[in-house]
Amino acid sequence: MKEFFIVGNWKLNKTISESTQFVKNLMPLLTQGTSRCGIAAPFTALESLVKESKGTDLLIGSQNVSDQKDGAYTGEISAEMIKDVGAGFALIGHSERRQFYHESDELLGKKIKRALMGGLIPILCIGESLEQKQANEVISVLENQLDKALGALNQDEMSSICIAYEPVWAIGTGHAATPADVQKTHKIIRDFLARKWGEKVCYHLKILYGGSVKPDNIRELLSQPDIDGALIGGASLEVESFAKMVNIAREI
Ligand code: PEP
Repeated sequence: MKEFFIVGNWKLNKTISESTQFVKNLMPLLTQGTSRCGIAAPFTALESLVKESKGTDLLIGSQNVSDQKDGAYTGEISAEMIKDVGAGFALIGHSERRQFYHESDELLGKKIKRALMGGLIPILCIGESLEQKQANEVISVLENQLDKALGALNQDEMSSICIAYEPVWAIGTGHAATPADVQKTHKIIRDFLARKWGEKVCYHLKILYGGSVKPDNIRELLSQPDIDGALIGGASLEVESFAKMVNIAREI
């Protein structure tokens, strides 16, 4: 049975009490299975979520991490601080951070290093815009994003990361990429990484798909050989729909 990783990205949503109530409601709805699930929550809710999910297999992570360890960086949160509250992973380079906060691939490379040094699993988000897709630049855009953000990592570090392929035009639009197209792109990503870091590491590396994943399209997406999980925004905010998607992953 394949072990998928199903991750909810709550973005700028949910207070501490709403977050913990979500987990209380979620756990009884989940079936047993090898596939893992996680929630990328606002910083403020991380500690309470870690406590609420203790003893379960739900992973808690952040939606961002600083490229700095400590010092005079007002407003930043370090990997060590995130690890200190018990969280286990961090999203890095979500398209909303690239678009609204102008995070560059070079900065993301530093964040990935810091996340790894702080003991977090980085989930690097990559994806092309609609204009880049229409200009047939998908492969070059993705390879460039991967190269710049991951170029400094060694094989060992590569075995501790995840990739989330999220075409920007599919995020929050209700128009997911087709399973066949995602499969094709994930295979290109995996082959590119294998050429750089070797097949052994890259064939075990998890490549998640994100972009309008819902209970009614997740099964077909996860049935593709190179789709190892999903990063889910809108449909992860409702406990029933998130539970349904995790349970589908656990059935396949
Ligand atoms: C996301 O924010 O990472 C995402 C994929 O959002 P949505 O599922 O709402 O498209």
